Formats: sequence, structure tokens, C-alpha cells
Amino acid sequence: MKFCSECAHPVSQLIPPDDNRPRYVCGQCGTIHYQNPKMVIGSIPVWDHEGDTRVLLCKRAIEPRYGYWTLPAGFMENEETTTEAALRETQEEAGAHIELHELFSLLNVPHVHQVHMFYRATLLDLDFAAGTESLDVKLFSESEIPWKEIAFPTVAYTLKFFFTDLARIRREGGTYALHTRDVLTPMRQSAEG
Ligand code: ZN
Repeated sequence: MKFCSECAHPVSQLIPPDDNRPRYVCGQCGTIHYQNPKMVIGSIPVWDHEGDTRVLLCKRAIEPRYGYWTLPAGFMENEETTTEAALRETQEEAGAHIELHELFSLLNVPHVHQVHMFYRATLLDLDFAAGTESLDVKLFSESEIPWKEIAFPTVAYTLKFFFTDLARIRREGGTYALHTRDVLTPMRQSAEG
């Protein structure tokens, strides 16, 4: 940030009194511009036909990671709940009609100032189509997932958690669990041992 959004005066980075980290502070009107993580919300749309379980992925038509595959997800909007965001993003990116279930994964990505959340969902019909932010939308069984072409680590983790839970449930019954994970830079990972 270079200029104050209140008065357009240049801002500078300093630690305000009673604070402990640098903030953008306006030298003219004194506004402190706090910056906090953004929420990225998505769904795991699942189509199950006689035990053949497939997940709907979107091929990205936008940067970053143009041409790579992702679960439908995007930035949460103001005035919206997390479930509304998951439904909206799934509709916008995949044109998919889903029934939303419980929260399935929560992943912190501190170095990009994001928290990602994915809800498990049932695909209600096969009437889906790529939205403007997708080049293609397709169902994948576990063996068909293009692991090397997955756009983001949070999506790869979520897909791995999902198929691991699915295999466990098929083997011994039970239910899906909530999975959490911190996606750290290699530097921070080694610092934290
Ligand atoms: Zn200002």
C-alpha cells in the first residue's frame, strides 16, 4: 500500500503505540490501515455412481496457475457466509448444482496471507459447465487425478484427505473428519523443525 484510502496522502510503515508489528499509517489523517488474511472458500463436489466416486475439478482460465486444475474456490465476499461463498464459487466456476455438507478441510497459508476452507458437497446432476474463470470442468476418479497439474497445495492436500477418508470409510465404516494443515514455506518449516 502506498497511499491512504481515506485521504490519498502517502502512508508509511511503522509500529503504532501499543502495537507490536509494522502497519501502514497515514501521515496526514492518522488512519492505521490494518491488513489481515483473506478467506478462500471452496467445495469438493462429489459424484458417486454405484461406488464409482468422482470429484469435480476446474481447469483454471486465469492466473495464477493458468491451465492447472483446482477445486472450485475463491475469495469470500463481504456480507457473505462461508457456505454461501462455497455455493457461489462452485456455481460461478463450474456451473454445478450441489448440496453442501460439513466443513472438510481448513488450511493456513500464512506466507500468502490466506486461509483456505473446503466443504464436502454432493453433485446433484451432471449439468455442469465451465464458467468464465475455467477452461474446462471434469469429473475425476482417484486414479485419474492429475496430481502434477493441481494448481495449489491446499487443493492437493484436500483431495488426498478426501480419498484417504473415503478408503477408510469403505473399509471400516465411520464418517469424514475435519482436516487441518499449515502450508508453510520450506524456510519456516525447517525453522519450526
Ligand atoms: Zn489519510
